[in-house]
Amino acid sequence: MIKTPIYLDNNATTQMDPRVLEAMLPYFTEKFGNAASRNHPYGWVAEEGVDYAREQVAKLIGANEKEIIFTSGATESDNLAIKGVYEMYKDKGNHIITLTTEHKAVLDACKHIEKLGANVTYLDVESDGLVDLKKLEAAMTPETILVAIMYANNEIGVIQPVKQISAIAHKFGALFFTDAVQAVGKIPVNVIEDGIDLLALSGHKMYGPKGVGALYVRRKNPRVKVTSQMDGGGHERGMRSGTLNVPGIVGLGKACELCIDEMETEAKRLSVLRDKLENSLNELEESYVNGNINHRLPHTANISFKYVEGEGLMMAMKDMAVSSGSACTSASLEPSYVLKSLGLSDDLAHSSIRFGLGRFTTEEEVDFAIENTKKAVLHLRELSPLWEMFKEGIDLDSIAWAAH
Ligand SMILES: *Cc1c(COP(=O)(O)O)cnc(C)c1O
Repeated sequence: MIKTPIYLDNNATTQMDPRVLEAMLPYFTEKFGNAASRNHPYGWVAEEGVDYAREQVAKLIGANEKEIIFTSGATESDNLAIKGVYEMYKDKGNHIITLTTEHKAVLDACKHIEKLGANVTYLDVESDGLVDLKKLEAAMTPETILVAIMYANNEIGVIQPVKQISAIAHKFGALFFTDAVQAVGKIPVNVIEDGIDLLALSGHKMYGPKGVGALYVRRKNPRVKVTSQMDGGGHERGMRSGTLNVPGIVGLGKACELCIDEMETEAKRLSVLRDKLENSLNELEESYVNGNINHRLPHTANISFKYVEGEGLMMAMKDMAVSSGSACTSASLEPSYVLKSLGLSDDLAHSSIRFGLGRFTTEEEVDFAIENTKKAVLHLRELSPLWEMFKEGIDLDSIAWAAH
């Protein structure tokens, strides 16, 4: 028997792997030392745990362990990267380029530095979610100090061409920062090959604990620095003060190690399941996959079901923990700004569902999700006057516009 609601919201957070918990436990109890205590074994033992985790994190992204700054999560990493680079390099130039489809942590950090005098370009993406490299290059100026573009999008899973993006940034003497929260541990990410200067990652998106993350800051070719946003004891090479969250960091390290070992087979397994889900749901009339299907994370599918009302759909799918394009931040009824950026109408954005598969997703659960979603969509359409009109061949788009 499967347990409901089945969890298909792995882009929002992942269940911590039991092996991660096991690695963390001693650091809550007998290995409780402060990693900054240099005078006794309690501190040394904690520091050893942190050092090892730093190697595990670095290895997953092809970095050197000295380049890893531990933080409280990717929101902090995003803030540290954007505000920290702006403060450190603003005398070189004050222009930053990012995308309209970035995570709020990036967008709001950009809004913040705009108030301090930064000039930020928010580039639109194409209808498939990808950045147009020609438009990026055209937006670059001699004043550009940073290009901040995510590796993979959290809502639609689209993977940006980071190698080409970093090449463009570097051609103009700018740094390249990528929020790689959704990509790290799921697909191969290598800071050297990808030309990444700063990278944000988060524990709880990759089967590790919540409240811990990291920022990769390149040390060579070029040596990158960020102005600290948290001042104090000078931890983390002065870039992020505060007593280290030793159990969390050990857990993040273990989570990275498991991803190194299992990412490849998991990506294959999940893409098969995702394709099964997507192909089955595409059998429904008027269903649309959002985002470029050839440049996408293996475990994510975002699908809009036309002529279905979003809220009704969520209610009808209560046996499934999924995310909807009308999942409203701040209780507004605004549909997802990411889907709007792709050019989707409000209706289509509201009627979209994000399916995020993960390490603990079984085929049985995917079959259940297919059945359940199909039933919900068909049922809601049966009740929908719009669907009836569509089936009668009435041109709804013209009517819908007139009604607005
Ligand atoms: C979840 C997420 C974040 C925020 O990470 P936290 O560790 O929860 O603060 C940032 N960017 C992306 C793309 C995310 O998916």
